[in-house]
Order: sequence, then structure tokens, then C-alpha cells
Amino acid sequence: MKRLSGKTAIITGSVRGIGKGIAEKFSESGANIVIVDILQEEIDKTVSQLKVSNPNVIGIKCDITQENDVENLVEKTMGQFQSIDILVNNAGITRDKLLIRMTLADWEDVIKVNLTGTFLCTQKVSKIMMKQRKGKILNIASVVGIMGNAGQSNYSASKGGIIAFTKSVAKELAPRNINVNAIAPGFIKTEMTDRLPDEVKENYLKSIPFRNFGDTQDVAELALFLCSEESDYITGQTIVIDGGMI
Ligand code: NAP
Repeated sequence: MKRLSGKTAIITGSVRGIGKGIAEKFSESGANIVIVDILQEEIDKTVSQLKVSNPNVIGIKCDITQENDVENLVEKTMGQFQSIDILVNNAGITRDKLLIRMTLADWEDVIKVNLTGTFLCTQKVSKIMMKQRKGKILNIASVVGIMGNAGQSNYSASKGGIIAFTKSVAKELAPRNINVNAIAPGFIKTEMTDRLPDEVKENYLKSIPFRNFGDTQDVAELALFLCSEESDYITGQTIVIDGGMI
């Protein structure tokens, strides 16, 4: 039997990067998959790729900052699969600027997607998990939420917020047998990090003892562990995966 056989997993921001890597890994591991993103075309593409090896994959268009969208996501998932066993809050954005140049919109956009979106999805899905008396919630934070980073005060505040949110919600939901953990990746090769200037990438590389960047598979393996029965006694934790960077 595969590790996630019969489980239903919602993964936000799963048409590219880390989210897609997690969706692929969970799909291989036997889960029913719900691909979530804001671009319908990208959702359709990802769903058809995964459907080649797993018939139980659906896509739902959802902007995680919109309460109605998130309610619709939960309703449709329940309609299709009758349970939600795993939620991966992965969707995230950056709007990097030094503090003195940062606009209020740069600040609010990042907090809204990364932190408020995580809150909304967690709140709506946890209602179902509380009734089921079982579930796994995994939040994708970042090492910058622990160590800070010049030019990312908005992003690091959102990720530090996710780490604190994870600890609090873990305490609230433990009596219902729901695990809430976070992963704090370092530098992982995705479109988000491709956009960084070469000089910034070279500086990161120097600060990584393994001297190479992580890939989405590295994060997906850890996500699989934290969303499977093997980690049933772990909750409220943030696991760093960064090649030794921090
Ligand atoms: P990515 O390639 O930019 O993917 C992020 C995904 O989130 C995209 O598919 C994006 O959709 C989606 N998204 C953005 N806003 C959304 C919204 N409002 N509602 C629903 N979906 C939304 O990023 P990534 O590098 O894979 O990062 C994934 C997560 O890991 C993020 O939370 C990021 O902060 C975190 N992280 C990444 C790294 C790294 O080195 N890559 C390091 C630490 C933490 P569209 O593209 O369709 O707009």
C-alpha cells in the first residue's frame, strides 16, 4: 500500500515550483490531489500531466486571499472526495524592496497572500478536519522567517508569522488529532528564485555549506514525511531544509 493511499490532499500554488513538486510526490504516493492556483490554464495543464498516472486529480481555481474562493475550494473538494486529510499551504509571493522604498501595496500584497491566505485555508479546512478528528496541515515558511533578510522585510514578516501561526494552531488542533507543522526552505531552484540577479544567487551559494541549491524534490520528500503517518507524533514544528545555510 502506498503511503498516502486513500488520502485527499489540497496543495495551494501547485502549478509550478515547490507546490507542483509536492503535488507530484503526493500523487505518486497514492493521494487524491487537488491542484489549486489562480490561473485556470496552468491548472488544466498540471491536472492533465498528473492524470496520466493518477485518475484522482482535480483542479480548482482559487485565490487564497478571497474567503469565498476558499469556501468554494473546500466545498468542491468535499463534493468530489468526501474528506480532506492534508492541506499544504504553499502559495506565496515576493515583492522585494528595501524598507525605505517599500510601498504599502508591496507590504500588504505579501502579507495578504502569504499570511492571510494561509489563515483562510487553514481555518476553512480545519473545520472539516476537526469533524473528521484527523488531519495534517503543512505550511511552507522560509528560512528568512527565522533569520531575516535585507530587502525582504515584508516577506520575512509573513514567513515569521507563518511559523508563529503554526505553533499556535498546532496547540489548538492537537486535541482533535490534527498535526500542524511548517517547512522552512532555504534556496530552492524555482521560478521564484530564477528571477533573482546572478550576483544575489552567487552570494547565496557561498553561504550554503553544501555549495548547491535545493530542488523541489528535496522539499517534497520532507513534505511527504510530515503529511504521512510516520510523523504522527510531531506537531508545531518548523523543519529547516537549506543545505546547512542557517
Ligand atoms: P513559485 O514558483 O512562484 O510558485 C508559487 C505559486 O503560488 C504559483 O503557482 C502562484 O500562482 C501561486 N499563487 C500566488 N498567489 C496565489 C494566490 N493568491 N492564490 C493561489 N495561488 C497563488 O514559488 P516557489 O518558489 O515554488 O515557492 C513556493 C512556496 O515556497 C512559497 O510560499 C515560497 O514563499 C516558499 N519558499 C520558496 C523558496 C525558494 O527558494 N523557492 C524558499 C523558501 C520558501 P501563479 O504563478 O499562477 O501566479
